Amino acid sequence: MIPVALGSPDNWFEKRFSYARRRLLDHLSELEEQGLAPEYHEIFKHPQQGPYGESLATDAIWLGSLSAENVIVLGSATHGAEGYAGSAIQSFILHCLTRNKLRLPPNCALVLVHALNPWGMAWHRRCDEQGIDVNRNFIDFSQPLPQPVAYELVRECLTEPDEVRREKALASLLDQLGQQGFDEAVFGGQYHDPLAPFYGGQQKSFSREVTESVLKQFALAGRNLMVIDLHTGLGPWGYGELICDHPIDTPQEAFAMKAFGESVAMPARGNSFSAVKEGLLDYAWHQVMSERSCFLTLEFGTYDSRALLKTLVDEHLVWAGDSDAKVKHGESYHRMMQHFCPNDIYWRQSVLFKSWQVMDRLCSGDVF
Ligand SMILES: [Zn+2]
Repeated sequence: MIPVALGSPDNWFEKRFSYARRRLLDHLSELEEQGLAPEYHEIFKHPQQGPYGESLATDAIWLGSLSAENVIVLGSATHGAEGYAGSAIQSFILHCLTRNKLRLPPNCALVLVHALNPWGMAWHRRCDEQGIDVNRNFIDFSQPLPQPVAYELVRECLTEPDEVRREKALASLLDQLGQQGFDEAVFGGQYHDPLAPFYGGQQKSFSREVTESVLKQFALAGRNLMVIDLHTGLGPWGYGELICDHPIDTPQEAFAMKAFGESVAMPARGNSFSAVKEGLLDYAWHQVMSERSCFLTLEFGTYDSRALLKTLVDEHLVWAGDSDAKVKHGESYHRMMQHFCPNDIYWRQSVLFKSWQVMDRLCSGDVF
């Protein structure tokens, strides 16, 4: 069943942060006219501006009863440039609620976290303004920093401007570690090269502070939570993989399986397109979760992981240069959008449809 006329995907997908945020807030107003007003809306302002001088912020919005025991959380733009798809999904879900194509079950609220990394989204970067990959930033900074295995080779894969040399380093690392070890070493997170991809930072990022504030201000600890964090850029074209990074054989893994069956993929079991990673956003949420809760990444594939690596290394090399930020942005914008939010009608429809399907399941009343 087609849930609601999708129309042209252009109705949902924007190219600039301010347009995407405006669209979300417009859909929120429409929903309010139907009688479902946000009970709580917190705006976390970011200190910097976007490339067009626009102001930047993360919006956290509570819909439904504040006393609900069960809460669905739908987040976007943990990786900034992936937020154009994530924001489109969030607007679409609001539209489905407005048109009664989705209905929150009793005792269940919905929290939207729009643009967790607004700077990265506005500048079409995956990282934040400090070069931090927010999804590697949730580590304990009072402990020694994690060190990827074979780091000298990993470094060459992530920072080498000469493509021939980089390819050689990639081949050698793959040889040494095998595919799974290679994925973990390269994509798993590094804490040493701020100008290279997958840099987890050496302190808490803006987005981590916002996450911790949302957890507190929205009093989420102790409730039953189903968190869906929206990502793009890894896995087969248009496929939405539900990735569970809870430890294996935990109640949270069982809860994910109860909700979504065999479609749940576990990096720790080696059956996901994603590798085991350091410092995921998941870990902040895991700490407050009841047994009837789980955190899932909903990752929409575009191109393969080699293309992902090339796009990101090239983009970081551009941003490591001396030119003005707007020039760097102009140089990398198209390739970043093409990798993380491709302008392809079938891809965009798949993304919206799968997201509706996930939300429809969560709203069925059988999950919590
Ligand atoms: Zn991502």
